[in-house]
Amino acid sequence: MTQPYPTGAKKALLIAIDGPVAVGKSTVGRMVASRLGYRFVDTGTMYRALTWKAIEQKIPFDDEAALSRMSANTTFQLTTTGKNGQNNILMDGKDVTQQVRSAPVEKSVSLVSKVSEVRESLVRHQRRIAIEGRLVMAGRDIGTVVLPQADLKIFLAASPLERARRRYQELLGQSPKVNYDEVLADLQSRDDMDIHRQASPLKPATDAYILDTEGLSAEQVANKICALALGKPPSETC
Ligand code: C5P
Repeated sequence: MTQPYPTGAKKALLIAIDGPVAVGKSTVGRMVASRLGYRFVDTGTMYRALTWKAIEQKIPFDDEAALSRMSANTTFQLTTTGKNGQNNILMDGKDVTQQVRSAPVEKSVSLVSKVSEVRESLVRHQRRIAIEGRLVMAGRDIGTVVLPQADLKIFLAASPLERARRRYQELLGQSPKVNYDEVLADLQSRDDMDIHRQASPLKPATDAYILDTEGLSAEQVANKICALALGKPPSETC
């Protein structure tokens, strides 16, 4: 059955893209933003940056009060690099773009993101960023919590095996020592925590368009989202 697609006379000004680990939210989000001339914000980098700060400050991940205080006293600035539209992140004035992709952060980020006070301070920040509109924002709770008023909500889906394969290929480019089974296990463990946490669990908004990306290239997925943003069927060229 074909899923009904959202139609509207207006071009979508706020686009929310949610979905599980390694489903391609950032890659296609950047492409869509670039095609529409919008800003792109990857909210995962903020949770990752706070995790890096907790590691540096040796705050135990189960000390929710300390994590909450830390998040309330942190400033962020997201900038977009010209070439590929990637978000660079400054935390407390320091560039932590590289650090947020490190393995220790990857392993622990879901322990930090499950703390509701941490989420509340980041959501406030994300909503401030969205005020100007003309924005594609990617994460786990953008359609459900951060921007429930978004003009277009997309929930990207793909099987764990397909997502692990994509992440494995990506990591292989950085280090030949990557192990596929470990990539799959890490991905499933992070998804599991994100789906089952109390605060803003990962789930599609009731009015989200579920886009199955299995077997599709990033360009094909971006084209579908871009078409939807213009009020066209996803099968049309953007
Ligand atoms: O998208 P990315 O994999 O960089 O996100 C890292 C982690 O940050 C996720 O696994 C999730 O725990 C958390 N996150 C979140 N809400 C968001 C974005 C990311 O909980 N809006």
